[in-house]
Amino acid sequence: MRVLRLHGPKDLRMHEEPVPEPAAGEVRLKVTSVGVCASDLHYYRDGRIGTTLITEPLVIGHEAAGIIDAVGEGVTDCKVGEKVAIEPTNACGECFFCKSGHFNVCPNVEFFGTPPQDGCFREYLTWPAKLAIKIPDSISHDEAAIVEPMAVGVHAVNLAQLSGGENVAVLGAGAIGLSVLQAAKVSGAGRIIVSEPVKERRELACKLGADEVIDPSACDAQKEFCRLTNDLGPDVVFECIGEDGASLEASKIVRILGKIVVVGIPDEDIYTFAASTTRRKELSVVFCRRSNVAAETAIEWIAEGKVDAKSMATHRFPLEKTAEAMELAMAKKDGVIRAIIAVS
Ligand SMILES: [Zn+2]
Ligand SMILES: [Zn+2]
Repeated sequence: MRVLRLHGPKDLRMHEEPVPEPAAGEVRLKVTSVGVCASDLHYYRDGRIGTTLITEPLVIGHEAAGIIDAVGEGVTDCKVGEKVAIEPTNACGECFFCKSGHFNVCPNVEFFGTPPQDGCFREYLTWPAKLAIKIPDSISHDEAAIVEPMAVGVHAVNLAQLSGGENVAVLGAGAIGLSVLQAAKVSGAGRIIVSEPVKERRELACKLGADEVIDPSACDAQKEFCRLTNDLGPDVVFECIGEDGASLEASKIVRILGKIVVVGIPDEDIYTFAASTTRRKELSVVFCRRSNVAAETAIEWIAEGKVDAKSMATHRFPLEKTAEAMELAMAKKDGVIRAIIAVS
């Protein structure tokens, strides 16, 4: 089978490797669609995310859909031929955090496309059957590849604990920002204001339910947020840009006694806040780690038409053109939200 490995920054190479056999409790998946995530871009460009380095050639990619192709011993609830989305978090299930239901922060977690766990840019993979989530026929493979970022949006909004009617700001309208926007809408947020410098992304944010959009490159975003929220500032700010300094910006925008949910991953392994601002405003800040048991909700909402995954799968590339997809996603050109790699 064809397997695409990242050997170092911007060094993707195709390999021919044997098709893996599913162990007991596992399924084998014929991979169909895989989304290119911003975290894949970090690995592709820098060979690392924060302190996590690629030291051996690694298969990246974790936003995957596919068809069950074989099942291992003891697997009874998955059948060959079923269409599934992959939950990329394989938690231990035994530790203190897993036992309290916080699988996403399990210290023993294996996550697709994060060293040393190979990811999904390959024709076949094996994974625990319980992490292959059945998709209804009405959801396409490309939409199923959007389930993972959508689940991050669902989890981020869960962390905000909205009580309904809040003024919400979403900074950044990439796949995560747009997922947060849609999840916040479904969860009862009041006015949702999205800040995004790329025009096509602002337009898509409007289509997906933003009440207002701001171009931070063309105005004083802080003032604009204030003006749109009765001179108070938004109650909750979701930071989904992931650039250095974005958390500092969020703390300036959010209202006194407001809440920031930090979802973006900055290039440097550091978040910045001004001590004076965060303290004087008595802010609550919560950091979002991937998603936790939110894929089922994301699938349900996509199937019911409450959220739109289709509009986020904007481009398709064959496996051998993955580098091209990465470059496009990094350039944020041509209206790209998620470039989908059509593996097979
Ligand atoms: Zn992702
Ligand atoms: Zn655990």
